[in-house]
Amino acid sequence: MTLTAEQFQQKIVDWFAHSGRKHLPWQQEKSPYLTWISEVMLQQTQVATVTPYFQRFIQHFPTLSRLAKANIDEVLMLWSGLGYYARARNLHRCAQTIEKEYSGRFPQDLLLLQNLPGIGRSTAGAILALAFNQPASILDGNVKRVLSRFHAIPGWPGLSKVNKQLWALADHYTPKNKHICHYTQAMMDLGALICTRSQPKCAECPLQNYCKAYTNNNIANYPSPKPLKKNPSRIIKMMILMNEDQEILLEKRPPSGIWGGLWSLPECAITENVKNFCKKNYHCEVTKPFEKYPFLKHTFSHFQLEIRPVRIPVKQWSPPLMESDRIVWYNKQQLTSIGLAAPVKKLLRYIN
Ligand code: SF4
Repeated sequence: MTLTAEQFQQKIVDWFAHSGRKHLPWQQEKSPYLTWISEVMLQQTQVATVTPYFQRFIQHFPTLSRLAKANIDEVLMLWSGLGYYARARNLHRCAQTIEKEYSGRFPQDLLLLQNLPGIGRSTAGAILALAFNQPASILDGNVKRVLSRFHAIPGWPGLSKVNKQLWALADHYTPKNKHICHYTQAMMDLGALICTRSQPKCAECPLQNYCKAYTNNNIANYPSPKPLKKNPSRIIKMMILMNEDQEILLEKRPPSGIWGGLWSLPECAITENVKNFCKKNYHCEVTKPFEKYPFLKHTFSHFQLEIRPVRIPVKQWSPPLMESDRIVWYNKQQLTSIGLAAPVKKLLRYIN
């Protein structure tokens, strides 16, 4: 049995009326700004994790203009713990671009939206559909899962051929003139609540009788997983340099790359001589004994990082370092108000 696009839409919209989510914090007001922030936060992150971050973020930056005027450190501080920090840097740059080039208003055009920093095709589609009720498709992880199971599409959705196929289906089913907003939200909800990664609740699914994967009893095959590749690993020493006033030396990371723009602890290769390294790079005279802490493991999308923390008492340091905007001595009170890389936060909490 097959469904026409109109029948598919109707089933989805009817299901949304009784089972869709209507009380998420970003749904309480139709606004491209709120839709955009929530969509970016929801990339790679679950609703339950995003909700408190979203509320704090919006409290701090209630409008696009406030975000555009903010200091990037403030933005990163509010993002700290959500991961994928490029998203936060792009949000900030995007707000500034919209302020400057579009007088603070989101362009209502798919291509113009996609040209903005950090806005891909699916996020642009979500802004148009959810905030402006315009016929634009989305293809986030939830929608990909529903469509690849519904049509039993083989292959990992990260492959361009599969991705193209899924976009064509997303375009085919997206309504052209009515219920656009509800349909879009419903597809996300169906993937998040019913067509879940493991143990989908097919008995509650409005598409059950027409779903190929369900009919063929091979749901677990869709979507195909990413081909396995062993991630390389790196080991570093992370140094907690503490002076006699119990202040800790923090270093701002370069704006791009891992933990870009966040504050972190100095680090060096495992083979490095710590004493010489601290003298050369931070003008610090360090004294033994060094205190070692349990290892920490952190997984990035492309490698594994093993962190070997070591606390190092500092006897003397060069005062000019205090004035640097890249390297500073921080006390415990200040630590709560700056953007810290996740393992650094964990480590400092542990020491405290
Ligand atoms: S029937 Fe099951 S597998 Fe198919 S779309 Fe619905 S929840 Fe997903």
